[in-house]
This record gives sequence, C-alpha cells and structure tokens, in this order.
Amino acid sequence: MVSIDNDRDYIENTYRTLTALWPDRQPQLSYSTCFELLVAVMLSAQCTDDQVNKVTPALFTTYPNLHSMAEADITELESLVRSTGFYHTKAANIIATSRMLKERFDGKVPENIDELVCLPGVGRKTANLVVSACFGKPGIVVDTHVLRIARRLGIAPTDDPARSERMIAASINPERWTAFSHALNRHGKFICTARKPKCQECVLKANCPSVDILTT
Ligand code: SF4
Repeated sequence: MVSIDNDRDYIENTYRTLTALWPDRQPQLSYSTCFELLVAVMLSAQCTDDQVNKVTPALFTTYPNLHSMAEADITELESLVRSTGFYHTKAANIIATSRMLKERFDGKVPENIDELVCLPGVGRKTANLVVSACFGKPGIVVDTHVLRIARRLGIAPTDDPARSERMIAASINPERWTAFSHALNRHGKFICTARKPKCQECVLKANCPSVDILTT
C-alpha cells in the first residue's frame, strides 16, 4: 500500500487538478426529490448509475412519493427494480425505509447522516450523497471508484469504506469534501479504472505513487 504522509501540497495539487477536470458536483443518478435520490442510491448498490436511471422512471411513476412507496406491493416493486440486482433485499428496504420516514420522520428525508443511517438499507455512502446533494452539506461519498482511486493515490490507503471516508475527510477542509468526492468518483470511473487504469493519459501521473502499478 502506498501512503502519503500529510503531504499538504500533494493533496492541494490533487484537489485542484481533479476538480478543474471534473467540476460537476451533481450525482449521476436521475431524481427530482430527495426521496427519489434516496431510493435511487439504495438501488445503486452493486449496480451502475446508468442501470438505476433506466428503472427509476417507471418506479417513480408507479410510486410517486414515500406514502405510496410505503404501501407498495412488494411483488410489483421487486419486478420494477429486478434489473438492479439484489432486488428482494432492495425492495424490502425501500418499503421499510418509506414506512419509517412516514412514521418517525414526519414524512421527510432527514438532513443529517446519523438519522439517515438509521433507515433500513441506508449506509454512509447513501447518507453522504443525500446530505450533500439535497441539503448542501459537506459529504464524502465513498463508492467503489472513490475507494480505489483514493487508495492508489495514497490519500486513503485502505479497503475499508468507512476508514477511507475518515481519511479523505482529514486530508482537506469540509467545504471541499463534496467537490473532491465527486471529482475522485469521475476520475476513478473514467480514468483510474479497476483493471486498466489509463495512467499514461492521467493528469496525476507525475506525482501518483501508483502510476503504471498494474503494468510493471
Ligand atoms: S496515474 Fe494511474 S494509478 Fe495514478 S491516479 Fe492516474 S490512472 Fe490512477
């Protein structure tokens, strides 16, 4: 594992380079309300954003809000989300979460991470995306792409998402968390890919401790 020991210049350069290259801070999931984003992120576990975006239009037409989702027919819901994988668990969690929002949160999506992670099927990745995209709070969304690239860059040399989140958080100021997290996601998704990272076209290759690590 590579490690960068509190190298502020390295972090600063990485942040500036990546956020200039990938300035988009919006989730790549389609949604029109916080509840829809919450459900979309729950569906994105072990599934691509593109595939989730294919199923959510029909899902949100059939069940347009958390009240209708709380009363959803589980068999129908399962068939609507089947192509995202793990559909039994996902459908059950979506219904349970909708009911909890109705009963314990006055029909609203909570604004803080501690409350969000109490919801069935909602982990820190989902909670961080919701608080940052819906409520404008700092959020570090450690998905598979962020976990991988933060490890390769030495910013968070770990395979544990919760630990990675803490290490990324400690590396930069909170007002930069959301932008950094989205930029890391895009760079990991399109350049620093799992099997064949495109190191020779990567804007970070001059300083990255893992450059060409898979080809040497
Ligand atoms: S140089 Fe290679 S390993 Fe490093 S961030 Fe870029 S693509 Fe990933």
